[in-house]
Amino acid sequence: MDFKNYVRDIQNFPIEGITFKDITPLLKDKTALKAASEAMLELVGNVEVDKVVGMESRGFFFAPLLASCLDAGFVPVRKPGKLPYKKVRKVYALEYGTDALEIHADSIEKGERILIHDDVLATGGTAKATAELIEGLGGIVVQCNFLLELKFLNGAAKLNGYPVKALVQY
Ligand code: AMP
Repeated sequence: MDFKNYVRDIQNFPIEGITFKDITPLLKDKTALKAASEAMLELVGNVEVDKVVGMESRGFFFAPLLASCLDAGFVPVRKPGKLPYKKVRKVYALEYGTDALEIHADSIEKGERILIHDDVLATGGTAKATAELIEGLGGIVVQCNFLLELKFLNGAAKLNGYPVKALVQY
């Protein structure tokens, strides 16, 4: 299946100059949704996974689904102020300014094997900050897994040291 047929480009969203990859056509199509989930599971192969960490908000579409199929738990990484319990925060640099992500302090045990999943790998800042949160709790990042990779932004270079897999490259 050519998954690119189910991803539409939205020009200048959410801000001027960005071409947003809208995956809702893929999500609403039962055949494409199932095929994409299965293909992302194949990217994981027989790597052992204890938990899948998904990033707010579009990482939440597939991460719990992958977790369930991998017989693993799911952990959300969220924007500041959303998680209710004791949490750890990571501030990271954007092209202009900074952003931050949070994870519950009790969400990962030392030595647990963690699959990171998000919908899009762009500059890699989000995934790198997530990996650092996970490692701060003692987890081991076994793969960074994405539906789409914007290769021209070279995000994988920021994730060197981790296996990076994406279903579709642009
Ligand atoms: P980055 O930290 O630059 O790798 O950005 C990754 C995050 O931003 C992911 O959570 C994506 O959902 C989102 N993102 C970045 N660029 C795009 C894009 N062109 N289309 C859709 N989502 C994007």
